[in-house]
Amino acid sequence: MGRSKENEQTFAPCREACPAGIDVPRYIRHIRNGNFDEALATIRERIPFPSVCGHACVAPCELKCARVQYDEPIAIRLLKRVAAEYGSDDRKRENAAPTNKTVAIVGAGPGGLTVAYYCALKGHEVTVFESMPEAGGMLRYGIPEYRLPNNVLAREIAFIENQGVKITTNAKVETPAALLEKGFDVVLVASGAWKAQKMRIEGEDFENVLDGISFLTDVNNGNKPAIGSKVVVVGGGNTAIDAARASLRLGADVQILYRRTRQEMPASVEEIKEALEETIAIEYLTAPVRIGNGTVECIRMKLDAPDASGRPRPVPVEGSQYTVECDTVIMAIGQLADAASLGLAANGNGTVIVDSESLAISHDGMFAAGDAVTGPSSIIEAIAQGRRAAMSIDVYLGGNGIIDTEEDLPGMDEAPNPKPRGTARYGTGTASLQDRRCGFGLTEKGYDRETNCLYICPDFAIEIKETDAA
Ligand SMILES: Cc1cc2nc3c(=O)[nH]c(=O)nc-3n(C[C@H](O)[C@H](O)[C@H](O)COP(=O)(O)OP(=O)(O)OC[C@H]3O[C@@H](n4cnc5c(N)ncnc54)[C@H](O)[C@@H]3O)c2cc1C
Repeated sequence: MGRSKENEQTFAPCREACPAGIDVPRYIRHIRNGNFDEALATIRERIPFPSVCGHACVAPCELKCARVQYDEPIAIRLLKRVAAEYGSDDRKRENAAPTNKTVAIVGAGPGGLTVAYYCALKGHEVTVFESMPEAGGMLRYGIPEYRLPNNVLAREIAFIENQGVKITTNAKVETPAALLEKGFDVVLVASGAWKAQKMRIEGEDFENVLDGISFLTDVNNGNKPAIGSKVVVVGGGNTAIDAARASLRLGADVQILYRRTRQEMPASVEEIKEALEETIAIEYLTAPVRIGNGTVECIRMKLDAPDASGRPRPVPVEGSQYTVECDTVIMAIGQLADAASLGLAANGNGTVIVDSESLAISHDGMFAAGDAVTGPSSIIEAIAQGRRAAMSIDVYLGGNGIIDTEEDLPGMDEAPNPKPRGTARYGTGTASLQDRRCGFGLTEKGYDRETNCLYICPDFAIEIKETDAA
């Protein structure tokens, strides 16, 4: 039994808010009923990274959760983790008959791998070229293991490979257009945004000044960079907070300098909270003006009228300079895409110029997706871009461009609860502060079996009891 057409057109706000359009109410109902395989398959209808998103999605769905009008949003992101941890990977979609068309993808981050997954499902032969030794992009080399373990990522990449996608690592593509000359029918560029922005202040090129992405890549390669005992991190986004928390785990005392206030910090609220819990100090309304040998000269800022980004513009407070001592400075003020370095027409901010609907590049047969198009964004936005590019590529190659099949899974016809019951959100807890300070083990705990059975899916708890009694 499928859902009525009317239901299909009236999406819940959480689903509307998801850039990939995941059917949130349906997978949560499956979880509540103990149907974890179906929950996982429901999420996979729209994204090939259920577990990655369960760990690290920015979860725009939770901001729009209808439950907010009663208390808190449902833990939509964490419930993806439940589906991935309890559900089985056996429910796999079959690829369409081979089309004998070939697709080359530059970059094995979430954007490129999403395109690869859906193009393989449509029957195209897909090869992904990745310059790093391992696939995953920023999921592998940016986000540290304490938020997204490598084995979680590896499992999801293996699922994509099992769908027939070939990934070649240590394979940097110098000129994507040349892949068309080599015989590929389509080339998709998903090279991300890895170029570190510079502040252009004195001392920025000193040996003890690192850029955030290079530092995190080093740490995510399993190395322990010698950063000393006192580290200053400059910036307020994902990279800054991850660099600070990674430095703390390497044994340093860490201070973050951010030029606006906590309210304007681009990093997620949860991450800022966890960083503060871990005793990382954040100096708001502060910017570095000069880096010396073992010192950073800082200046206090105040906020003025909004700038081009719509956020209040920070301006220096005259005469407020002071000096901080440190062993290492990590600059994490942002990254840029670098389309020009791949021989592609670029916007002023370095992103690839594309048709905003189809994501096609003006060069026939070429498309782009992910951070390379949007600039630094999020996992779910890169996946959503990958889905759009896969549809366009399929149409370009003569297909119908339909990449989704809503599976006929049990429980779909069940009406959503008219009134919420129980408690919206069950806390999962985090690893102890002591563990967090000295290792890269996962910080956020998942739902253990007891919470899962007793609260999230009570029907399943009954099944377990009967099995135990037998
Ligand atoms: C430190 C950090 C933490 C983050 N945390 C979060 C988070 O918690 N939640 C969230 O939603 N988002 C987060 N993000 C953002 C998110 O990771 C990115 O938006 C997302 O990974 C972009 O996906 P992508 O596929 O477009 O690019 P990427 O993930 O950057 O992948 C691009 C890939 O292309 C490869 N490549 C580049 N050039 C070439 C070439 N010439 N030839 C071959 N391969 C090439 C790169 O090596 C890389 O593997 C974070 C980002 C950073 C930097």
